[in-house]
Amino acid sequence: MRKIAVLGSTGTIGRNTLDIVRRHRRLFKVTALAAGSNRDVLLSQIVEFRPLLVSVGTEADAAALRRELGRRGMEIRSGTEGASAAAAETSADLVVSAIAGFNGLRPTLAAVRAGKTIALANKESLVAAGGLLRREAKSSGAVFIPVDSEHSGLFQCLAGIDRGDIRSVVLTASGGPFLHVPLRELRRKTPEEALAHPRWTMGRKVTIDSATMMNKGLELIEARWLFDLAPDMIRVLIHPQSIVHALVELRDGSVLAQLSRTDMRIPIQYALTYPRRRDGFLPPLDLAASGPLEFSNPDERRFPLLKTARRVIGEKDSAAVAMNAANEIAVEAFLGSRLRFNGIADTVEEVLGGLRPRRLDSLDDIIEEDRRIRERTRRRIDKRT
Ligand code: MG
Repeated sequence: MRKIAVLGSTGTIGRNTLDIVRRHRRLFKVTALAAGSNRDVLLSQIVEFRPLLVSVGTEADAAALRRELGRRGMEIRSGTEGASAAAAETSADLVVSAIAGFNGLRPTLAAVRAGKTIALANKESLVAAGGLLRREAKSSGAVFIPVDSEHSGLFQCLAGIDRGDIRSVVLTASGGPFLHVPLRELRRKTPEEALAHPRWTMGRKVTIDSATMMNKGLELIEARWLFDLAPDMIRVLIHPQSIVHALVELRDGSVLAQLSRTDMRIPIQYALTYPRRRDGFLPPLDLAASGPLEFSNPDERRFPLLKTARRVIGEKDSAAVAMNAANEIAVEAFLGSRLRFNGIADTVEEVLGGLRPRRLDSLDDIIEEDRRIRERTRRRIDKRT
């Protein structure tokens, strides 16, 4: 039986993870859960899965949970420190890292330092601290298994492939809800329209990132760290059907692809059962019924942040920290109707424009840079509005 800790248990990835646990009761035991402000969902998860350790966003919520749960021999903690304790909880074999955004970095690092196997859904931590996480993983023996569908696809295609035989890899992108919207109409797009993703059901942050394709930009950087690939070997193709998730082109011209239904439970389950396969519970992929599969190159005028990420991937560490921080603040502002849709990309570019990228060696340096850029981005947005 595999013991798992789920960080971000009330988010989309967390809930899907627990759905898989529920369907494979004999394979998994949940030992720790960490969530933010969604106390009601967390409470029902605690009652159902009976973890040893729980963490919630604030100390006030932790106190309320202690009252609600009474004496059940369960440790209840709070905040980033609590989520980090859940990540390092000694009995877990596998940690699902699915807290959204930069907030997931410290708990992910705690899991890395504890030498865990990490099913990684939090791409922002690799974007902001890929070098640091990789160095720490090397010394602790921690291993990353990708949960992101494209990276899970790559991971599966690359099994048994000699690195020297890889010519390039391709991450596919659906293109999001605005793939065919006339460019001049983009600026008027509302949060509701941006949140209506045509293929995937995901959290709000990643759904907006899909509409701007910042998500694919973050995934380029994620792929670079996960698979130790040179940036110019990683390509992006628009594939609106989201059935092919990744491709690997080999030196002899052969191309491998990974396909599945558009459902995050497939890559999550593989990360949980790796290296074994277990029965899936979705209907089989029916290619005859799915219609044509289309591919095209992304238009960087429509998706300028993809170009930004391409540039940042070749720069020193602080550039990726800044891109990620500026984007998180800009997405928040867009969701709060304080920024227009195309203001997200403009803001990220403006903030990056005033910076000279530099090396960041420690977690403290990274956290300080992230904080500085968030402030700078907020000031920019206040000036615009
Ligand atoms: Mg993805």
